[in-house]
Amino acid sequence: MSTPKPSAENPVKFRKLKLTAPKTTAAGIPAVISALHHIWNEMSLARGMKALAALNQKEGYDCPGCAWPDPSHRSKIAEYCENGAKAIAEEATEKVLFAPFFSTNSLTQLSQLDDYDLGKKGRIGEPLYKPSGADHYQAISWSEAYQTIARHLHALPHPDEAVFYTSGRTSNEAAFLYQLFVREFGTNNLPDCSNMCHESSGVALSESLGIGKGSVTLEDFQHTELILILGQNPGTNHPRMLTALQQAKRKGAKIIAINPLKEAGLMGFRNPQTVEGVLALNEDLADLYLQIRIGTDMALIQWICALLFQKEQYGEQVADQAFIQEKTKGFEAWANHIQQLDIASLQAITGLHEEEVSQAADLIAGSNRIIACWAMGLTQQVQAVDTIREVVNLLLYKGSIGKPGAGTCPVRGHSNVQGDRTMGIYEKPSAAFLQSLEQQFGFIPPGKYGYDVVESIYAMEKGEVGVFMAMGGNFLSATPDTARTAAALQRCKLTVQISTKLNRSHLITGEEALILPVLARSDQDVVNGKVQFISCENSMGIVHASKGILAPLSKQLKSEPVLVAELAQAVLGSKSKVNWAHLATHYDHIRDAIESCIPGFSEYNKRVREPGGFALPNGPREGIFTNTAQKALFQVAKLQLSPPEPGQLVMMTIRSHDQFNTTLYGLHDRYRGIFNERRVLMINQADIDALGFQAGDKVNLIGQEFGTRREAKGFILVPYDIPQGNCASYFPEANVLVPLEKTARKSNTPVSKHVLITLEPFQEVVEV
Ligand code: SF4
Repeated sequence: MSTPKPSAENPVKFRKLKLTAPKTTAAGIPAVISALHHIWNEMSLARGMKALAALNQKEGYDCPGCAWPDPSHRSKIAEYCENGAKAIAEEATEKVLFAPFFSTNSLTQLSQLDDYDLGKKGRIGEPLYKPSGADHYQAISWSEAYQTIARHLHALPHPDEAVFYTSGRTSNEAAFLYQLFVREFGTNNLPDCSNMCHESSGVALSESLGIGKGSVTLEDFQHTELILILGQNPGTNHPRMLTALQQAKRKGAKIIAINPLKEAGLMGFRNPQTVEGVLALNEDLADLYLQIRIGTDMALIQWICALLFQKEQYGEQVADQAFIQEKTKGFEAWANHIQQLDIASLQAITGLHEEEVSQAADLIAGSNRIIACWAMGLTQQVQAVDTIREVVNLLLYKGSIGKPGAGTCPVRGHSNVQGDRTMGIYEKPSAAFLQSLEQQFGFIPPGKYGYDVVESIYAMEKGEVGVFMAMGGNFLSATPDTARTAAALQRCKLTVQISTKLNRSHLITGEEALILPVLARSDQDVVNGKVQFISCENSMGIVHASKGILAPLSKQLKSEPVLVAELAQAVLGSKSKVNWAHLATHYDHIRDAIESCIPGFSEYNKRVREPGGFALPNGPREGIFTNTAQKALFQVAKLQLSPPEPGQLVMMTIRSHDQFNTTLYGLHDRYRGIFNERRVLMINQADIDALGFQAGDKVNLIGQEFGTRREAKGFILVPYDIPQGNCASYFPEANVLVPLEKTARKSNTPVSKHVLITLEPFQEVVEV
């Protein structure tokens, strides 16, 4: 009789699903009520109001949610959105877990909770250790924890048998020290959550424009004529973006939304900080909504470009010839390619009507200041890099880069994911960066590229990784192919999670496991009696300070920078060339080191103290392109789509409105009218009928790609306005279906937005 083991997947447990009509407008007073409700549920009103009052304020701390920038003029009432408040409710909760909780709750028992109930258990209050063969965590001192890690790392035949993952909440200071420690230890195995989100943007933009970041600033939304929003749901994932869209609209800009789902935050906005918003007066957003089939954005952009060339042939002036001549390369090849495309087949692929796409072409032809915004709907596709390059081609054709009101805007989903990459958290470091580390610190960092996220899982699966460490995040639940990733993690000798809150990655461990609890963004961070601040880089390349203000709820918590410095000393010992103790005494020392190694950070300590911080250099923003061509590059991309087999559906994994990455704030998806249940599949009624099911039926979702059967049991069919043949379900529950082998070309980003599935009836397990 086998001993029960912790479950990597959420148990199949149905709640009382309630459905209402989806919303057509986002935010409003309901958002305020929801925000306060979440705060109220997690802490005292005094602590809650103190936390909210400092959120995103210049003397306060940066929201640990998404990376949407703060305006120069901060609202004194509330410079945050509903989901920002939920993020604070989550991390500033007064529920704290210590060893006694874990002595009565085994890993196996805890894994029977779903991710919502698990996350609601609270913060981790002290360092915890799971010995080999044990099913319970126990208390451990910090020094013993460091010694345990040192013992395992020194026992490895080669530093490349250790993997050091980073989640996007990690500050610049912690990220810089973490990569420095890992490189002095001897490996570039620095996968990060960017590998799973905007890596495709980084690859495409670096090739086309010379920098892997967006070129626009928040100010550009005040000067733009047209905003394209592709594969993004800002109402839930970047809510304060709606204010920028509202302001742009009020200045006459138009918006084209391109998304398989009709998302409330793309259709309308009630800004609760305006009279109209409080009075629930609608403010429409999208002027044109293209409800495209999943993963066909490239076909649409090519179709639009073909129509624009047709307009040119009829004598209309569409292209910015001066910009093309002066600033770009490769136009002819691209123009020839586009004009040879068969528009009818592009139409068939997208499922859109000619009239609506012609309307889009008219709007684009008539605009010279265009901003293109995008997110995971583009980046987590097989041809993600090509699609983003095609979006850039369109902007170059219109001369819409390097001037006010125009440019690229990949909207980052995690507060400092861009900053971490800038700090050197990257498995493919540049030679120049490694050289600067050698010059500054006197050790020779490894040159061989490391593993990204997917490669790390393959290596663990092959038993080639002895130690896995994660700085924040929830690696197991965020990654694809959950069952495989779980088995891979369990092959490690030691797994270390540096965390604030309990999550499923704490339950699926190596032979031995450690949880090291750290301060959260809102916690006050005092080192040597001095209150410290950290810094982050938002989606538009602005580096700004963040100073926590809440009293930590446990004296055993450490800040990430101090933890990394102490761990490095314990592991590297006297052999280290880095003065870790000095760096950890005051974060100004860390910033001085960053200034000496990374371009764009001159006078870092002075400029980061200026209200609002400072902008990092961004060539394309100035119309300067530092790629190999020293010109903005038109690139030809051939569409290669593999249509689903009969009976197969194309599924995309999405977030609910009560969710941030794998953190579940609640069980509702208010805008989509889905309440109190996450095991749902949003599917077109015509597909439900065609597949012989009824609305409300419980089914299993089956994937068969790459010769492996993957099963996600127990999902309720919810009829939804989504193109036929397409469907959507929430992650992390559906991540078990995302094949590890299915990644975006060139960026190796898991393709979570195009998973081929079939449905099978679900057999209710009758408890006897
Ligand atoms: S928009 Fe993003 S960064 Fe701003 S408050 Fe909301 S979640 Fe936080």
